[in-house]
Amino acid sequence: MRIVTTIADVRTAVRDAKSAGRAVSFVPTMGALHGGHASLLHRARKEGSFVVASIFVNPLQFNDPNDLAAYPRTAEADEALCKSAGVDLVWRPTAETIYPADFDTRVEPGKLAAGLEGLHRPGHFGGMATVVLKLLNVVTPDVAFFGLKDFQQFAIVRRMVRDLDVPVKIVGCPTVREEDGLAMSSRNAKLSPESRMLAAHLSRVIHAAARAMRSGERADRARDLAFSDLSSQSAIEIEYLEVVDRDSLLPVVDEPTANAVVLVAAVVGGIRLIDNVEVVPRDKDSS
Ligand code: AMP
Repeated sequence: MRIVTTIADVRTAVRDAKSAGRAVSFVPTMGALHGGHASLLHRARKEGSFVVASIFVNPLQFNDPNDLAAYPRTAEADEALCKSAGVDLVWRPTAETIYPADFDTRVEPGKLAAGLEGLHRPGHFGGMATVVLKLLNVVTPDVAFFGLKDFQQFAIVRRMVRDLDVPVKIVGCPTVREEDGLAMSSRNAKLSPESRMLAAHLSRVIHAAARAMRSGERADRARDLAFSDLSSQSAIEIEYLEVVDRDSLLPVVDEPTANAVVLVAAVVGGIRLIDNVEVVPRDKDSS
């Protein structure tokens, strides 16, 4: 496994791999890697013959400077995880490499970025889409892997790639969870033991709502029940809990719920967490 920082080194390594006939698969990350990232890397290993992972905490997608400063950074453990997952090339760019002083262009996602996370984290998806497009332009992978844990991000990236004719296949991979159901996240390490116990409620209530809809409950009723269930935990501050269509991300009220996804964002003990569950899980990775 090689670790590089410059764009030129990535381009050379990828060009060599492609001219040796190897399919390039790519997993962009912000580091502090865990089992969720590992599942993407293993999937990338299966699908491609040259696996590239990037590790870059993207300042442009943080609307809160304190959140950026507090984001966990675990360089050595990340490299060990990449190595054991069979990564060929780790790209660790500096912020100056990605955003030189005169950097002046942004990707602006449209309607898909308007609600949910977009409402609560202004500018987040523009920053995310901008860096993802840059990373894709440098790595030029055949296929790139994203977690459905960040459901809205996945929808926006898939649409951006289609709208802007980026020649890459985007694959969405299922959310990996802890034993009690909590979705793995780099932010979980920041939870106090009490908050860590409470955090599992997020996954419990959205799974209960999805189950209720699968048994015929209306989306608005399932959502309201989940909301009041979660509200009863005073230490959990709900930012949103919504049932939306998985493609348009528009609210589902009383339409059939087969295409619906339940999404939640909440602050638990000062740590902001997100999670989601599809009412009818896709039977394989989505692309
Ligand atoms: P991040 O480092 O948080 O930017 O995440 C990098 C990639 O890993 C994104 O595509 C995430 O959706 C994905 N990811 C993060 N957590 C999980 C998880 N628990 N299960 C599956 N994928 C995940």
